[in-house]
Amino acid sequence: MKYDRVEPLVEIRGLTKSYRKKTVLSGVDLTIHPGETVVLMGPSGCGKSTLVRCINRLTEPDGGAIYFENRLVTALSAHQLATVRRKMGYVFQQFNLIQRLNVIDNVTLALRINGSPPVEARERGMEALALVGMAGKATDYPDELSGGEQQRVGIARALAQKPRLMLWDEPTASLDPILVGEVLEVMEKVIGTEETTMLIVTHEVDFSRRAADRILFLAEGKIIEEGPSAKVLENPQSEIGKKYKSLLKK
Ligand code: ADP
Ligand code: MG
Repeated sequence: MKYDRVEPLVEIRGLTKSYRKKTVLSGVDLTIHPGETVVLMGPSGCGKSTLVRCINRLTEPDGGAIYFENRLVTALSAHQLATVRRKMGYVFQQFNLIQRLNVIDNVTLALRINGSPPVEARERGMEALALVGMAGKATDYPDELSGGEQQRVGIARALAQKPRLMLWDEPTASLDPILVGEVLEVMEKVIGTEETTMLIVTHEVDFSRRAADRILFLAEGKIIEEGPSAKVLENPQSEIGKKYKSLLKK
């Protein structure tokens, strides 16, 4: 209700995507407002990555409309798309750091490619590294870091661009269980500090109940249930929601 008079940041209507004969998304509707933290959950293979990747067109949708800041993303030219993508940070499951670049160069690469003066890029990079607790390792190389540290660098890289929207695709799924907690802690800090709008794919239910404003369940190609995080995790209506509820620790 409180969002009624605010323009949505992302608006998705009737999004469809198939791979050969397999329909993955069969009409997804989704509105995300500025400043919201939204978690997307659903069984493996249900299309979560496909949905997130359609928003910045890492994956090309088949049909439907995706608006970002009221612009039809699906109609953008390559040049316009590049500009819009700078406003969308992306955190990958597999970190995707460049092994031959040190931490600060990984974090500032996109800024420098996009023409930021080196001093400014470095300042923004160091600020982002400080937020994820990695400022002391700015000159380390990725292979000197733990998985948790690498993902914290991945988060800093997305933050350094000062995106309006951050897309997180299972950011803790590649980590040893012992390292998951440190990354979730950093994620909560980032969510609490930044005004950036977040769309996070994760199966971490306790984290989601604390950190998300809203949770969406994706199944059979559609958003089958959504609502405030506490409500849908504690009193889910869908089968998939009930399965996630059973994973809550307390
Ligand atoms: P999730 O992220 O929820 O695990 P994905 O969006 O990655 O699911 O994939 C949804 C379905 O689409 C899966 O069955 C997957 O195998 C299939 N799929 C994903 N990407 C491709 C692709 N590039 N080509 C063919 N099939 C794909
Ligand atoms: Mg996925």
